[in-house]
Amino acid sequence: MNSPQHLIHCDLLVDGLGRWSAPGAVLFQGDAVIATGTPTELGTPLEAHFDRLDGAAIMPGLVNAHAHLDLSLIGPLDGVEDFTEFAGVVMAHRPLEDRVIAEAMNRGISQSRAGGTLAIGDIAGGWSLQQFASLQGSPLIGVSFLELLAIGSGQDEGLRRVAELLEGVQVDAHGVRLGLQPHAPYSCSRQAYQWCASQGLPLSTHLAEMPEEEQFIRHGSGMFASYLQKIGRLDAPPTGLGISPIEFVLDAVPSVPLIAAHVNHPSEEDLGLLADSSITVAYCPRASSFLGHDQHQWSTMAGLGISVALGTDSVLCTGRDDRLSILDEMQLLHQRHGTSMEELMPMATINGARALGLPIARWTLEDATINDLLVLGSPRGFARPVDCLERSVSIQWLAEDRSLKRETT
Ligand SMILES: [Zn+2]
Repeated sequence: MNSPQHLIHCDLLVDGLGRWSAPGAVLFQGDAVIATGTPTELGTPLEAHFDRLDGAAIMPGLVNAHAHLDLSLIGPLDGVEDFTEFAGVVMAHRPLEDRVIAEAMNRGISQSRAGGTLAIGDIAGGWSLQQFASLQGSPLIGVSFLELLAIGSGQDEGLRRVAELLEGVQVDAHGVRLGLQPHAPYSCSRQAYQWCASQGLPLSTHLAEMPEEEQFIRHGSGMFASYLQKIGRLDAPPTGLGISPIEFVLDAVPSVPLIAAHVNHPSEEDLGLLADSSITVAYCPRASSFLGHDQHQWSTMAGLGISVALGTDSVLCTGRDDRLSILDEMQLLHQRHGTSMEELMPMATINGARALGLPIARWTLEDATINDLLVLGSPRGFARPVDCLERSVSIQWLAEDRSLKRETT
C-alpha cells in the first residue's frame, strides 16, 4: 500500500535554483516530495491530507560551505584591530581537548540547525577527529575538513600527524565525509597541498584572504614571513615565487575540485585562472566585512562562470550567537547590493552542495524529503521572494512545524 499523500499550501515556495511559486504548494507521498508548484497546478488529490501554512515560505535547507563550528564556544567578537589580533584570539581559545571540542560542536550544530543549515563544509582544527564524530551524530550532512598546518620545518610533522589520524578511519558515515583542509598558502607548503590532494578526499583551503598572503607567496616577505621565522618554522625569509597565492594553489593541485574560502583579493589574471579551474569560492560576507575586506568580487566571479557558494566562517565574525545562518549572509548581500533571491539561492544551496559532493536534486526538490525543507515565517506573509530578504523572518524545519495538522508517516 502507498503511504498517504499530504498537500501543503504556503505563501511562497522557492527552490535551490531560485525558481519560485506564490502562492506555493508541495505534495508529499509519505516523507518524499512528489510535486511542487502553485495550488492550482497541484490541484486537490482526493486522498491527500491538507494543511495551509499562512505567513510562511517553504524552501530547501541551506548549505554553509565554510564554517568553523569548533570555535562556537568563543562567541561573537565585538571587533578586532587586524588579522593578527583575530588569529591571536583563535589560537588562544581554540579548544584542543576532545571533550571541549564536542561541547563546542554541539553548540555550533544547534546554532546551524536554528539557522536552517542542512549541509555544511566544516573546518576541524586542533588535529582531532572529534568534529567529524560530532557531525556524524548530528542531523547535518556534508564534509568535516580536517585542518593541517605544514610548512617549513613543521611540514613533515604536520603531514605525519594527519596521516596518523587518517589511519583506519572510516571516511564516510551518516551523511558526513572526511575531507582535508591545508590551512592556507602561508601555513602549508606546495608538498603539503599535493599530499592532501593525493589522499582522494574532499579538499578545502583558505585562499587570498588578505594582501599579506600575496606578499608572502610572491615576494617571500611581510607579516607571514616574519611570523614563521619568529616561531622557528623558517630559518630565513623564503624565496618569493613571483606568483599569486591563487596561482600557487592551482599550480600545486591543478584540476582538483577544491573549496577556496574567502578569495578576497584576486587579481584580474587570478579571476581568469579561477574561471578555468575546478575551484568553488566560499564567500563569507560577514567575515570578509569583519576583517575589513568589503570589496569582494563575488558578482564578477559569478559572471565569469566561477562557482560561488556562501559560508558563515566562525561565529566570531557573525555578530550573533542565537543562530549561524546563511540566510543572514543573503540578507546582508541583498541589503548592500539589492541581490535577488534568484541569484542568491544557488549560492546558498546548490553551489555549495555540488562542491561538497552532495546530490543537488535535494535542493532542486526533484528528490527531496520533508526533512530537507525549511519554513520561513513572517506575520506579514510573503508575496514575493524578496520578502525573505527584507524582513526579519523566523526559521524552522517543516518536519518540526507543530502547526501541521497531520504528520506524514
Ligand atoms: Zn575559515
